[in-house]
Amino acid sequence: MSFVLPTVDIATREGVPITLPCEPINDVLAITPAVGRGRFIGAFTITHRPTGREFTESGGCIDCCREAGRLLAEVAVDWSALTADNSLDWLKALPADAQAAVTKARAISCDQWHCGQDDES
Ligand SMILES: [Zn+2]
Repeated sequence: MSFVLPTVDIATREGVPITLPCEPINDVLAITPAVGRGRFIGAFTITHRPTGREFTESGGCIDCCREAGRLLAEVAVDWSALTADNSLDWLKALPADAQAAVTKARAISCDQWHCGQDDES
């Protein structure tokens, strides 16, 4: 029995995209394994595909990541205006309701979201 993971293109640190097996959220976001200090931390995160930047502030379980991804996919924001270096300015420029929704989703936390998993952050 085998299965095939979906693949998405995600930019690397050098700016060259690679095709990575992971779970896509939409055209700009994907769920990827979370890395801290060079090691997998046993959690997942949401990555901004055009820049390769980790979009969430910490890791969470797959269920919390999917919930955060669902919330982010519903927010009407200009994802193309987000670059590798402007995430704070980009967030501040959003309308208040979009800013609140993005901030909530970025703060993905198994503790606060009461999913029953230990917080991995
Ligand atoms: Zn969780």
